[in-house]
Amino acid sequence: MPSELPALYPLGIVGAGQIARMTHQAAMKLGFTPRLFAERFDDSAAQAAPDAVFYHPDALAGFAEDCAVLTFEHERIDIGLLQAMEENGSLLRPGIETIRAAFDKMYQRRVLKNKGFNVPRFSEVRGPDDVLDFAASDGFPIVLKTVRAAKPGERGVWIVENRSEAMKVFSEQSDQQLMAEEFQAILKELVVLVVRRPGGQSRCYPITEISIQDGICTEIRTPADIGTRLASEAKDVATSIADELQAVGVLAVEFFLTTEGLVVNELAARPHNAGHFTLEACPTSQFENHVRAVLDLPLGPTWANAPAAVTLNVLGTLDGVDPARGLPEALAVEGAQVHLYGKLPRPRRKLGHVTAIGDDIGQARDLARRAEAALHGRRHI
Ligand code: ADP
Repeated sequence: MPSELPALYPLGIVGAGQIARMTHQAAMKLGFTPRLFAERFDDSAAQAAPDAVFYHPDALAGFAEDCAVLTFEHERIDIGLLQAMEENGSLLRPGIETIRAAFDKMYQRRVLKNKGFNVPRFSEVRGPDDVLDFAASDGFPIVLKTVRAAKPGERGVWIVENRSEAMKVFSEQSDQQLMAEEFQAILKELVVLVVRRPGGQSRCYPITEISIQDGICTEIRTPADIGTRLASEAKDVATSIADELQAVGVLAVEFFLTTEGLVVNELAARPHNAGHFTLEACPTSQFENHVRAVLDLPLGPTWANAPAAVTLNVLGTLDGVDPARGLPEALAVEGAQVHLYGKLPRPRRKLGHVTAIGDDIGQARDLARRAEAALHGRRHI
């Protein structure tokens, strides 16, 4: 905060993509301006924050000193650096344990398994022969994953059918630590967003169902089409995980629903792409509740204001045309809310999203599809 302004809530956000941008907007709504630690001048959130600090290797520690509370829009931060910041008196929310669990998938699996949560069978693998050993009990396919959470746009998951496919992944990912995981026959992919204050008060948002094709999220629907028993089980598991990790802020818990029941897939210790619907469909958005939680302010209600919501990502197309060109047509789709992140268009880059609410999923989906198609100069039929 510039020294002439009283910093009643001096919050720093590390990272300046669209998650930080929407978190920044939520903080502004509450009347204060968080500081941002950005990597580039044209980062999505940096465009809204004239005093953003730009990345250079030693700048983060100094940035931390100027903020009473630090939160993060991604988990890819050196743990040693976080420890140094904490020793220097910075309040990290979420804390190091939660960030480590979100960043390092092996660590995350071990912690969750040791605490009795249901995770897929997993093992560290150093080469294709280890994958063969892993496959010995249940056979192929096997899922290979980078241990470190992938950056946006980077691939971090491969489903391999035999040793030679595994070998290909190892040779292409020679600089990455990999783990093997039992392939899950997924019926549905679900996300529970829990928001938790430092003292332990927490709330869950309505459960969301995501569709994934070729590793890309193609649709986010709320509420998930599951029964109330399963929904309350998923919320209980997600809340217990947040409590075990002493998470602060939003913790997104991704589940696979299989014929055997719920399996925890992964954790994200921040507002999540699957929670953008909360901006339109809930009294308090995931971004505002994240800000409230990390500043230890009372949480807002998280129930659904509408029977159904559908969110579609707006991805860059191969022709590189900026979807902002389709804004007039997209805004003419009444009932759909368009969010563009101010990013340069690149193929498959996440440039924005569209959310529509409706009386049912079909109605909301139709509106969202019409607006998304309009952004790309297409007509949805
Ligand atoms: P990312 O960090 O890239 O989101 P995830 O672990 O969530 O990685 O995996 C991405 C997608 O890959 C999942 O949403 C799911 O569709 C598929 N996937 C991941 N793990 C498994 C698994 N063990 N079995 C089957 N599919 C999986």
